[in-house]
Amino acid sequence: MRILLSNDDGYFSPGLEALAAALAPYGEVTVVAPERDRSGASNSLTLDRPLMLRRAPNGFWFVNGTPSDCVHLAVTGMLEIAPDIVVSGINLGANMGDDTIYSGTVAAAMEGYLLGVPAIAISLVSKNPQSFVTAAWVAARLVERASSVPLGRLLLNVNVPDLPLAELKGIQVTRLGRRHKAEAVIRSTNPRGETVYWVGPAGKAADAGEGTDFYAVENGYVSVTPLQIDLTDYGSMTMVAKWLAQPASSGRGEIYGPV
Ligand code: MN
Repeated sequence: MRILLSNDDGYFSPGLEALAAALAPYGEVTVVAPERDRSGASNSLTLDRPLMLRRAPNGFWFVNGTPSDCVHLAVTGMLEIAPDIVVSGINLGANMGDDTIYSGTVAAAMEGYLLGVPAIAISLVSKNPQSFVTAAWVAARLVERASSVPLGRLLLNVNVPDLPLAELKGIQVTRLGRRHKAEAVIRSTNPRGETVYWVGPAGKAADAGEGTDFYAVENGYVSVTPLQIDLTDYGSMTMVAKWLAQPASSGRGEIYGPV
């Protein structure tokens, strides 16, 4: 099995090392990851400068770009044969609910999926090094399964609770929960006396009910959410059409002309 690994925490991340070690027995592993931490990069591609592919002493490749750049470059240019699976992670922090919109970990997997390769994004909900073993074990089980039972064209978002392996309750297929809106930016002052801002923490879980990723992880289960790309809000299409067709009371804002 040809396995392409990436992440958004950077090629030096201990989560990526743990993943590469855990998946080595299941095939030929190639690692292509960003040269620095690009968490929160989402699905961005670098279009305004060239990308360079360089190799670290441990054999990992690293790129001066985003997680999406790494997988895009690997699948469409670097690898002679397309990978059978793309695995992204192990991210050191959860990617649940609305996090998936911003996540570079999910984006790296999604890039593989968009290019026709089955893909798994895997995140540990903490930075606890003792739980890397748990997340790496889960990744290995999923890839092992994908090698014997083809995954098909799927994109799986996996979150692993911060638990020792022996305490994992099992695995649940879930839907994404929702978070409350994000906390405000944090204003600070730099050493030159200028005002600077830090993006604040994500909101707390809002929809964390049974069936969600939040709920599964909270209860000691590995959460596996199949993701899709289509963001269309089908249920609102009729409402939007009506809104556009309505005559504006002021006579202004008419964008449709008579049909
Ligand atoms: Mn990250």
